[in-house]
Amino acid sequence: MQVYISVDMEGVAGVVHVDQTRRTGADYERARRWMTYEANAAVTGAFEGGATSVLVNDSHGDMRNLLLDELDPRAEIVTGSLKPLSMVQGIAPGFGCALFVGYHAGAGSRAGILDHTFFGRVVARCRVGGRDFNETAINAAVCGALGIPVALVTGDQTVCAQAREILGEVETVQVKEAITRYAARSLSPVAARERVREGAARAVRRAREGAFSPFRPALPLDLEIDFVNSACADAAELVPFTERRSGTACGYRAPDAATVVQVIEAWTILAASTMV
Ligand SMILES: [Zn+2]
Repeated sequence: MQVYISVDMEGVAGVVHVDQTRRTGADYERARRWMTYEANAAVTGAFEGGATSVLVNDSHGDMRNLLLDELDPRAEIVTGSLKPLSMVQGIAPGFGCALFVGYHAGAGSRAGILDHTFFGRVVARCRVGGRDFNETAINAAVCGALGIPVALVTGDQTVCAQAREILGEVETVQVKEAITRYAARSLSPVAARERVREGAARAVRRAREGAFSPFRPALPLDLEIDFVNSACADAAELVPFTERRSGTACGYRAPDAATVVQVIEAWTILAASTMV
């Protein structure tokens, strides 16, 4: 089975602050190492579970975080940005399952480490079909449209609960318990890697047995984002077929999940250009 792994950073064990997740942050170099080793743990587990090949997508920030010299050489890597499918770039027919590692709760969550949806500086809330959709849900829908289920989500207790609520049957590995947005009780990075490795092995084994269903929300998908201010919405509204729904909200009726990702990217790039 070909296995796809999308790796974010906010849900990695030990990570609780933007000083760790931004390239300019004082603790970034250490945190990107934790991210790399947690990704490796998932790769190792995937092969233990029966993967024949693994593609890893660096899904955080500028998407050049993983230390490639230290990445498990059995995995191939999608690195850099801009990517039309963003956090699930490279997903394609032929993959048997997807694993989401280091993921985080959606914008507006309580007790979610660094909760946000795609671009936290401009997105206050993101909904699809009137329901809060976090990155797990949106990326799972892109995979689901190709018939590929998400088998594993790792991160804090809040993203794990959101994943189970959205996807139903899915393996989750909690590596930390968020206390507030910037504080957690965390496993040590070393202990977390062991849990992620075990979770990935279990997830791939169960995926090979057909335990997980692709996530296919009803089409079309009604995307709605509340931006942090009206200037962001003014800019997002420039994208053709965008509906302005309030001072700060824009909507878009998307024919499929890949379009949802692309509209979010276009909106947030434009919205970010207005930040003063
Ligand atoms: Zn991230």
